[in-house]
Amino acid sequence: MQALSREELQALVKEAGAPAYRADQILHWLYRQRVGGWDGMRNVPKSLREHLAERLVFYPLTLVRVQGSRDTTRKFLWRLADGSFVESVLIPANPALYGERSDRRTLCVSTQVGCAYGCKFCASGLLGWKRNLTPDEIVEQVLSVERWYAQQADREGADGSGLRAVDNLVIMGMGEPLANYAHLMKALALLNAPWGGGIGARKITVSTSGLVPQIRQLADQPLGVQLAISLHGATDEVRGKIMPVNRKYPLKELLAACEYYVSRKGRMITLEYILIEGVNDALSEVPKLALLARRLHAKVNLIPYNPVEGLAWRRPAEAHCEAFLEGLLQRRVTATLRREKGCDIDAACGQLRLRMEQERSAV
Ligand code: SAH
Ligand code: SF4
Repeated sequence: MQALSREELQALVKEAGAPAYRADQILHWLYRQRVGGWDGMRNVPKSLREHLAERLVFYPLTLVRVQGSRDTTRKFLWRLADGSFVESVLIPANPALYGERSDRRTLCVSTQVGCAYGCKFCASGLLGWKRNLTPDEIVEQVLSVERWYAQQADREGADGSGLRAVDNLVIMGMGEPLANYAHLMKALALLNAPWGGGIGARKITVSTSGLVPQIRQLADQPLGVQLAISLHGATDEVRGKIMPVNRKYPLKELLAACEYYVSRKGRMITLEYILIEGVNDALSEVPKLALLARRLHAKVNLIPYNPVEGLAWRRPAEAHCEAFLEGLLQRRVTATLRREKGCDIDAACGQLRLRMEQERSAV
């Protein structure tokens, strides 16, 4: 449904001549019961539902494919009303062992169809940018996964109605979230609101390739989300080779914007660093990266590159990734190395859509 704030919904309810509390009943159905249409809202009078149905349309995402990997990461491919594809990935915090359910899950959502930033290593950029997602298409990824999760539980004999699938949200799917700033912020406000998605701001991470003006804008608005920067290079030379955005916003400006964010929000930021063989993984890069991270008091998240069909980049050997991590730790940088999840289902951003589009054009 069109993503409405509580006030906007209250205004529509008032216009229909119904009491204000009806708006909260509807929000309860939308965000707690996660109904996918007006019919399910049993305690809302039919006349009000009909009035609203003429003004507000539900646009459900159509689930095209769910892929699972061994560690129970699940990847969802959705078709939107205009036939475009986007992806969301549900990642368990502790991979479920021996068939037990994992207790915490993170959902990675998309914000655009394709991406205009053309990072050389990324599947999302390969097909170019098609359009921004609307706020409701962003919110619906969360609600649709919640619906799917509850249905799975029902099927397994448990009562899925009160279950929650999504504890953490990462805005790291397809697209550059800060290039769709207004829609993103509207969606996050709804997902964060106590009457809406109820996901705390600290549990929401926005990842950007480094759009400097929007990082500053994000620092100046009230929602205190976590910020992750796709750094992938500790010098302009290395970063510029793989990320065209670095020409517009070189490291000096990016770091200043990050410092501003940290000073306004008092939050530690994360620097994402994909390790790509022969491109940015030389151990001589470690001291430069450590210097940047210490200057920003940032945490470094190392991610071995996930190979993309049609691109020649490769991930370094595991021992080399460990040595890179060790180098950072020795320099007193807080750092982690992702021991890959979801690699066997093309879980890096844009990879599933890329495959889908390729299959479609091959028909
Ligand atoms: N556009 C935003 C958010 C989406 S990309 C950004 O760039 O931050 C989310 C993360 O996935 C980014 O850190 C991106 O660099 C990384 N990524 C893209 N392709 C990848 C691949 N093939 N393997 C590993 N990480 C990848
Ligand atoms: Fe776009 Fe992010 Fe992929 Fe770069 S890494 S092309 S900014 S989605």
